[in-house]
Amino acid sequence: MGNSADTTSGYRVRCVAGHLGRACATLQHPQSNVIILMASDRPFRVRFAPSPTGYFHVGGARTALYNAIVAKQAGGVFVLRIEDTDAERNRQEWTDGIISALAWIGIAPGTYEGPHFQSEYAAEHAVAADRLFAEGKAYYCDCSQEVVRARVGENKGYDGHCRTRELDAAPGRPLRFKVPRPGSTTVVDLIRGEPVFDHDIIEDFILLRGNGSVMFLLANVVDDISMNISHVIRAEEHLPNSPKQQLLWEALGHEPPIWAHVPLLVNEKRQKLSKRRDPVALEMYRGQGYLADAMKNYLMLLGWSPPGDAEIVPWSDIERDFSLAAVNSSPAFFDVKKLRSFNADYIRALSHDQFVSECQPWLIGPDAPWSSEQFDPKAFDRMADQVQTRVEVLGDVPSMVEFLFTEVTPAEADWDKVMKGPAVEMLDGVIGAYESCVWQAETLKAELEAVGATIGLKPGKAQAPARLAVTGRSVGPPLYESLEVLGRERTLGRLRAARARL
Ligand code: GLU
Repeated sequence: MGNSADTTSGYRVRCVAGHLGRACATLQHPQSNVIILMASDRPFRVRFAPSPTGYFHVGGARTALYNAIVAKQAGGVFVLRIEDTDAERNRQEWTDGIISALAWIGIAPGTYEGPHFQSEYAAEHAVAADRLFAEGKAYYCDCSQEVVRARVGENKGYDGHCRTRELDAAPGRPLRFKVPRPGSTTVVDLIRGEPVFDHDIIEDFILLRGNGSVMFLLANVVDDISMNISHVIRAEEHLPNSPKQQLLWEALGHEPPIWAHVPLLVNEKRQKLSKRRDPVALEMYRGQGYLADAMKNYLMLLGWSPPGDAEIVPWSDIERDFSLAAVNSSPAFFDVKKLRSFNADYIRALSHDQFVSECQPWLIGPDAPWSSEQFDPKAFDRMADQVQTRVEVLGDVPSMVEFLFTEVTPAEADWDKVMKGPAVEMLDGVIGAYESCVWQAETLKAELEAVGATIGLKPGKAQAPARLAVTGRSVGPPLYESLEVLGRERTLGRLRAARARL
């Protein structure tokens, strides 16, 4: 890599720096301050390596976006690797869920290499384990957990008892890595600087279990080596694994990658987001009617801020300006309320046609609260602008317009609250006025308010009985536009039915 070589993406090598004796280079984008630290000996290749053991987590989505963006910035390759070696917890549906959730946020098949599946690399894992053993860098161990505990006490790591015993492989004996001692490992991390890990705090960790199955630490490194990964961008929870894995890279004869450990996401109590406690599944947000663009933009604000004051920024700006080096290393608050209002802003920014088209999955299909014969796309189109400014998620759209397509039944509690006192007079007056007036929102408003005025009701109170009778609800889109779209006949039918009940 030369001093001024251009990369395909327009990045320019700014300077060549020595990191821990390794030749590294930083690339700087000419139009922004984004700097990427390059490992010297290989092309820019990153990977996202989820385990298909549950719903796809919003934190995983953010990590995937970071990977996809920096790969694009550097003109490199983004690899998707499904780490499916935990046979008991893996399910095909989780893998499918990851792939479809990634596609939803713009990481579609074709934009990445793969998916590769870790289970297909079992032979490579075994070869690496054999090699580490043959070269004296790993050893078999026959200490049971109880024996180790009795020797070193509770919650202490393994004490290296079998390091020099030269045991052969045998069923029940795990293979352990011989951590070089004394020593320390420094990892180069684009978010955390260069943390140093003393080997005193790293036990001789297990590579193969007693039944021969491979452990995460080894499989993950062997795959990263096979896939020629230059930068490992992943969740902070893996930071303590990085010195162990770096030792494995070195023991297997390869220069380690550059790391970036992405900060934790926490809830409002500053607790780590958990699958059991918090709403973390990306698919759930999709199902509730969050827009992919809003979700992507919001995820990118967790730990990073675009230059300037705006938080809502075009994706192309984010792709240009995002920098791992500018990611804050402290935990980021995943604020569902903020995400919701962010989504509302994104919904409001859609054109009329975009909004109508984004609503389609909620209007047509088995989950809609009406049948396809009941649904009238023209009526929805006429109400769309009113609805667009009033929903925060698209999943709230059907309940706002349900009165147009189905018969309505007000809830008992609403009925008792609204249909009393002057409600009878109000309904009688409105029915009379609406039988002959011009069917247009402004006139409908004027007529109803005039009836209200004769019995001393302010506009808000005056419209309550008619609203409940016609829409079945106490709140919703503007009443008069709703009535205009519903039409005279159906409006009068509902007003009369309500009046008959009183
Ligand atoms: N399968 C690991 C996980 O989902 C990946 C860790 C890594 O990216 O290295 O946490």
